[in-house]
Amino acid sequence: MSTKKAVRIAITGAAGQIGYQLAFRIASGQLFGKDQSIILQLIEITPAIEALKGVAMELDDCSFDTLDKIIVTDKLEIGFKDINYAFLVGAKPRTADIERKDLLLGNAKIFSEQGKSLNMFADNNVKVLVVGNPANTNALIARENAPNIDPKNFTAMTRLDHNRAKAQIAIKTNAHVSEIKKMIIWGNHSATQYPDISYCVKRKRGPISIHEEKIIELVNQEWYREKFIPLVQQRGTEIIKARGASSAASAASAAIDHMRDWVQGTSDNDWVSMGVASDGSYSISEGVVFSYPVICNNGEYSIIKNLDIDEFSNDKIGLTNNELREERSAVEELL
Ligand code: NDP
Repeated sequence: MSTKKAVRIAITGAAGQIGYQLAFRIASGQLFGKDQSIILQLIEITPAIEALKGVAMELDDCSFDTLDKIIVTDKLEIGFKDINYAFLVGAKPRTADIERKDLLLGNAKIFSEQGKSLNMFADNNVKVLVVGNPANTNALIARENAPNIDPKNFTAMTRLDHNRAKAQIAIKTNAHVSEIKKMIIWGNHSATQYPDISYCVKRKRGPISIHEEKIIELVNQEWYREKFIPLVQQRGTEIIKARGASSAASAASAAIDHMRDWVQGTSDNDWVSMGVASDGSYSISEGVVFSYPVICNNGEYSIIKNLDIDEFSNDKIGLTNNELREERSAVEELL
């Protein structure tokens, strides 16, 4: 049995691919450890409730020490009641015949409703992670519809992009992924995201000293610009081609990394990437949910400020900022 007071964690789209991975990992203690009891509040749209009941049955069958209770519902007032953490995963899926603007608007409606419900029913300190796409703009909409919750508590996931970028650099430089530090993903969780290795290092710990090498000195510029950046941007599409389905386990894993680091803090003089409300840093339009390098401490994140940005990076950051501004304009009526 766990010893601390149970925390309430909601997952929307909980019977979907990512939700199915996430629920089990959270319930088993992989988010907050073995001494933290969890109440899982699983939310689905009505047609998926039967499938969600099946997920709950499997969760029961795991006999997790850390899982106190499961709530299964299609009602936000029940699913969001008193929650401390929200993983907003469910979203209208991308299909071949849907226009980008219609997808944005369809999801905007879902996330404005969820923002309002979080405002009414969740704990005021709830920490919200949006995974459902378009994640940055969905997070913006939810935030704007929840005036009683600190805007800083609404974030979007770019951690999978961050982890993917680190993994590719580790492979390229013959390092273990844990030795790669200070990766940055700037901007939108979309093909305009900018994986930036300008400050990235390979850090090896010896018995008495630490040896650091700059990644930009270990890889050539052509590989970085022509191969690495598109590879990270297009990794999701490559996985769909190979697996016949979109990434799910890695997305759930990244969602756990994001929330755990936010709550428990980043360490080892490292940064992580999080989509957070822009405070205007690096000339990004204020308020848009933009992925920045951050550190986390005492349950709060802080944007890494005053990094020198070269012309190449500046152009890339500008592109992804423009896309986010366009997305914001497209959903303005719901803000
Ligand atoms: P997934 O669980 O695979 O994906 C859920 C969302 O996460 C999608 O918006 C997906 O975007 C997004 N996503 C973000 N990052 C990634 C990533 N790196 N890799 C893959 N996906 C990523 O979708 P399913 O269709 O399996 O499940 C969705 C569930 O949500 C369903 O059970 C459905 O019933 C529910 N739902 C809930 C709604 C609501 O709450 N109102 C509305 C619609 C559905 P992308 O589409 O771009 O891949």
